Amino acid sequence: MARLVVHAARLIDGRGSPPVSEAALVCDEGKIVYAGPAGGAPVAKPDDIRIDSADGTLIPGLIDCHVHLCFDGVADFAGEARAMTPASAALKAARNARRALEAGITTVRDLGGIELVMLEVARAQREGVIFGSRIFSAPAVLTVTGGHGHFIGWEVDSAEELIKAVRRLIKAGAQWIKIMSTGGVLTPGIGAQRSAYTVDQLASAIDEAHEAGVRVATHAIGAEGIVRALRAGVDSVEHGCYLGDEALKLLAENGAWLVATLVAPERILHGGEGVPDYALQKSEEVGAVHRDSFRRAVDAGVRIAAGTDAGTPFNTHGGLWRELALMHSAGMPLERVLVAATSEAAALLNIQAGALEPGLLADAVVLARDPLTDPAAYRDVALVIQDGVVVFDGR
Ligand SMILES: [Zn+2]
Repeated sequence: MARLVVHAARLIDGRGSPPVSEAALVCDEGKIVYAGPAGGAPVAKPDDIRIDSADGTLIPGLIDCHVHLCFDGVADFAGEARAMTPASAALKAARNARRALEAGITTVRDLGGIELVMLEVARAQREGVIFGSRIFSAPAVLTVTGGHGHFIGWEVDSAEELIKAVRRLIKAGAQWIKIMSTGGVLTPGIGAQRSAYTVDQLASAIDEAHEAGVRVATHAIGAEGIVRALRAGVDSVEHGCYLGDEALKLLAENGAWLVATLVAPERILHGGEGVPDYALQKSEEVGAVHRDSFRRAVDAGVRIAAGTDAGTPFNTHGGLWRELALMHSAGMPLERVLVAATSEAAALLNIQAGALEPGLLADAVVLARDPLTDPAAYRDVALVIQDGVVVFDGR
């Protein structure tokens, strides 16, 4: 395999270091071997594949920490779920993983499909059967009977049932566990803020997963459900719409991540026609407080990783650029936005990626514009590199 050498006007490492001008990235055998000033790069070899992007900015491959690849982002999410079969889910997920990759998203965390389809899709990507973002998956969500997402997940109520479900998922190959700690916007008949499990129940499931080295994400909208999940030791809070002082304190103390998905309610409200009334009403209810919670989390310095909830209404795959612009407009400096979509996201996923430094997976993106001055820069992807190979060239 020949080395890949990319020259660009600027390189941003994804850790928050100052940009390097007139930079080079060298990838070999799927790993980064050099990232820095072009003058310091290893001596060129005759069979190097060389790419010059004189105006471009090199950044790490983007990571979307919250997607639903089986879902296309149609107006009626629950309706799409009802009509889905395992075969149609797999086909859609394969196409959506490709769309995400071509938008510069080299890795995703999928937080729920139907049955255990996403495990197969993730495997197909790893084995080169399909072409798309690298996938880490919580294939089936765990929820109380009648709780949020019951139409795609497993309904489990007691601590014993939770432990059994966690064991079954890990046995099947799940890399993540996702538990619904509160109601949600896209499930009819349950208040979005209602808490689902007790702290003890959540802790039983989370301890069981941690024992096996598997991390746990929780969908949590209401203040009480967020606090319960954090007390129980959850690794990431998804949405976190109503973040009280106690939640912010626990997030900071635990070193847990917030994945806000600001774009999800925004698209439900403004993306187009046909969203069911219950989803519109609940999005209206959470919208303003959600942005306010996010701003307070930024100010409190808690760990934040970027995620979109892509697959929900009008929230299409590859649309991470929308979320990154919203995170900035809600108060996050552009330097931190980039870190949230790269090295912090990789830290949450516990993978050797998310930064341009030697030894890490050779995932990188060249943007046509500078993301440290232009919040919309992520929309114009010139080049995508995954595992040291150019997988998209939009120049
Ligand atoms: Zn979701």
